[in-house]
Amino acid sequence: MPKLNLHKRDYVSQLGNEVTPEQMNELIAPKHRAITQRVNRSPYLTEKNVDYRWQKLACPDSKLELLDPHTQQQMSVYDKNIEYFIGTVKLPVGIAGPLRVNGLFAQGDYPIPLATTEAALVASYHRGSSLITACGGASAMLLNEGVTRTPGFAFRNLAEAGQFVAWVVTQFDELKRLAETTTSHGKLTDINVNIEGNHVYLVFEYLTGDASGQNMVTIATNVAFEYILENTPIEPHYAFLDGNLSGDKKANSQTLRSVRGKKVTAEVIIPVDLVEKYLHTTPERMMQFGQMTTVGGALSGTIGINAHYANALAALYIACGQDAACVAESAIGMTRMEVTENGELYASVTLPNLMVGTVGGGTGLPSQKACLDLLGLHGNGQSQALAEVVAALCLAGELSIVGAFCAGHFSRAHHKLAR
Ligand code: NAP
Repeated sequence: MPKLNLHKRDYVSQLGNEVTPEQMNELIAPKHRAITQRVNRSPYLTEKNVDYRWQKLACPDSKLELLDPHTQQQMSVYDKNIEYFIGTVKLPVGIAGPLRVNGLFAQGDYPIPLATTEAALVASYHRGSSLITACGGASAMLLNEGVTRTPGFAFRNLAEAGQFVAWVVTQFDELKRLAETTTSHGKLTDINVNIEGNHVYLVFEYLTGDASGQNMVTIATNVAFEYILENTPIEPHYAFLDGNLSGDKKANSQTLRSVRGKKVTAEVIIPVDLVEKYLHTTPERMMQFGQMTTVGGALSGTIGINAHYANALAALYIACGQDAACVAESAIGMTRMEVTENGELYASVTLPNLMVGTVGGGTGLPSQKACLDLLGLHGNGQSQALAEVVAALCLAGELSIVGAFCAGHFSRAHHKLAR
């Protein structure tokens, strides 16, 4: 029988041997001594403030690395993206592909910049991309778009909540007009209502153009929220601009069948000989792996089923100036692998929560814009294509990692490339 909790018991008893209760109390008690190294006074990015921070940090080697001459020369460009600036972190960037994408918006062979410190990652995406390209490319389809902010209102009872809802649904035109005064690209498309006891959540849904849109929808909803508070005939007991129903930066299951950001699906059909040539395995074994890991995923309680979308997303989001924290929701989705009637491998991915933009956020910063330029996807009119490319990239990663497990190469590849 496996001794499931032995490790925890060992840890606790070992702790008891090494640290007395008095020492433990002392270690974890709050400390009220004066701060000797206060490095910040103003959050703004000025030469004076940056100098002040480095004087206080007193770590010249770190300064040399983080505030290198190139960073120092162009540091004003970071002004709207960070507070308490001290420099830039350099991450290695690799290029995978070209990845051929046949989408509604993305058409072409894309070199994919990936920023990571994880060995084997770019190699794996390169292999998957090469395989997809050898098959003629991945078909990709943007299915839906939308970003939400979800103000929450607490009333004294359900009757008040109902009266509030009866009023607020008559206000859609005015709320839309007000919200859209804050943005030329954001469009309020709907307001859904969710009642839970005496709480009301209003789900403001927007289209955000080519911006991923988190700031845009927050600023727009805030104006509508203030109007509601000033004009509602039923005053809420309390209310907040967001009641945490938007799924912002959290894994959540509500969007598996709807959307947060951009919902995209991508597929590829791979002949047996290409599965053998690129992945050294068979379509049957890939499907078996898919069956086993789908059950494993269900047993572990994951939302959606996929192998490692997070790897592609984190590396591409960082390279291309996306909000890396949105990997939390973007990495949810469904991967499926089956054997076709002709014995080929059918593989698809569906990602309902791609929070990507080609304007705004970090997309205009020097390195990040350079990466979007490599893709040819910086600026207006490119975000839908970017979402389709991202989905195809996730498909490439799923094929490569499943192939590695099926061929018994997963550990070997990491050993060879990382050690
Ligand atoms: P943003 O940079 O705040 O807004 C996008 C800007 O681009 C707007 O000023 C917009 O103008 C302009 N724009 C120009 N051309 C556009 C086009 N074709 N389509 C859309 N907009 C266009 O970026 P965001 O995407 O709204 O927000 C992303 C950032 O929000 C990320 O950096 C993320 O870290 C952060 N974030 C914020 C929150 C929050 O709650 N505030 C939460 C999570 C993340 P118009 O508005 O006039 O159209």
